[in-house]
Amino acid sequence: MNVLVVGGGGREHAIVWALSKSRKVDQLFCAPGNGGSASLAQCIPIKATDVEVMVAWAVSHAIDFVVVAPDDPLALGMVDAMEAAGIPAFGPRANAAIIEASKVFSKNLMAKYHIPTAKYNTFTDMEAALAYVKEQGAPIVVKADGLALGKGVIVAQTVAEAEDAVRAMMADKRFGEAGTRLVIEECMTGPEVTVLAFCDGEHVVPMPSSQDHKRAYDGNKGPNTGGMGAISPSPNYTPEVAQRCMKEIFLPTVAALKAEGRPFHGVLYFGLMLTPDGPKVVEYNARFGDPECQAVLSLLESDLLDIMLACREGTLDQLDIRWKDAAACCLVLASGGYPGKYQSGYPISGLEKAGETAMVFHAGTRVNEDGQVLTSGGRVLGVAATGSTLNDAINGAYSAAKHISFTDMQFRTDIGRV
Ligand code: ATP
Repeated sequence: MNVLVVGGGGREHAIVWALSKSRKVDQLFCAPGNGGSASLAQCIPIKATDVEVMVAWAVSHAIDFVVVAPDDPLALGMVDAMEAAGIPAFGPRANAAIIEASKVFSKNLMAKYHIPTAKYNTFTDMEAALAYVKEQGAPIVVKADGLALGKGVIVAQTVAEAEDAVRAMMADKRFGEAGTRLVIEECMTGPEVTVLAFCDGEHVVPMPSSQDHKRAYDGNKGPNTGGMGAISPSPNYTPEVAQRCMKEIFLPTVAALKAEGRPFHGVLYFGLMLTPDGPKVVEYNARFGDPECQAVLSLLESDLLDIMLACREGTLDQLDIRWKDAAACCLVLASGGYPGKYQSGYPISGLEKAGETAMVFHAGTRVNEDGQVLTSGGRVLGVAATGSTLNDAINGAYSAAKHISFTDMQFRTDIGRV
């Protein structure tokens, strides 16, 4: 089969890598891809959000299957558009991707189907939102309804901070249309765990659990980022917690979406908090997380294409999906200054040596005319290692990363340790 992967980050490199091992794949394409996916797939310079151009390209190049990995094209209906053009695609249609694209939708869905989550209210009126904040007190969480690159959530420690957040989102339109509606919710406490799950509209197969590290600096300090590293599995996700999540959260969510006429096909991302009252949903995403994807797919033994096809066809229950009985760690190497301003275009050395003992997934890289790999983004590389214990996996990722260098390289030294 000729397969096209849409997206250009570390997550897409990991998906391309996993698909390249499938015997069913003849030709692999990645649009737009990056310096790493270029070694396994032909990169096509089309923006991931350019739905019309992407569909036209797929049709004219005899693509048999498309994997839509990022949130924006899913919310824009790229899966629907591919299907309308006769090309099967992996990922939810727009009417199911809304579970990520609108927090108001997802909170209302959870309330209707009694899925545990933080108590909340939704607002379109700023004065009402400000009054609610005053009445509830702090700490309290203010969230823009729409997609805001992970920046539209303020966990406010004081009422003043929450009020500032409400004004910034609703009056100053800091996140544009995403802040027209707000969710304001109770502040939960407890360890956070991510569970990615394959879904075929009806069945749900959770992958090994994982844990992201969102803050830029050691000790979970500094600004939020796209993710500075991930481990899998999460030590907090015990078999008892897993059983409870399946019964109280995963199965009810997939059943709820089906009942609403929005069957979910693809990867459903459950962002969970293990609170003193049990596991609760912090957020849903409609796709693999990045860098959780790089850690989790490092453990997959089965053929990813078979799984993706089953997700589309509703036959997940007929597959026996196998995982390595091991742990994984993905360490992100970022440009100095990220997530703020940073410089790009620096040569990267040591990739080959690091690749001898770990998988080096490229995120923000490009290859110049001389074949030199250069930095080209905030998050540059994800170094993923596996080991029989979590400790081994963490040590493996850090020892491989020692070989890599570029000007102003920045990374956390405590992935998996906090
Ligand atoms: P992303 O898509 O980048 O993961 P997002 O913008 O969808 O982020 P959330 O995941 O909803 O945002 O929230 C971001 C972070 O804020 C969470 O990982 C969690 O640490 C914190 N958070 C969100 N909601 C709550 C809550 N109700 N109580 C405590 N912390 C929360």
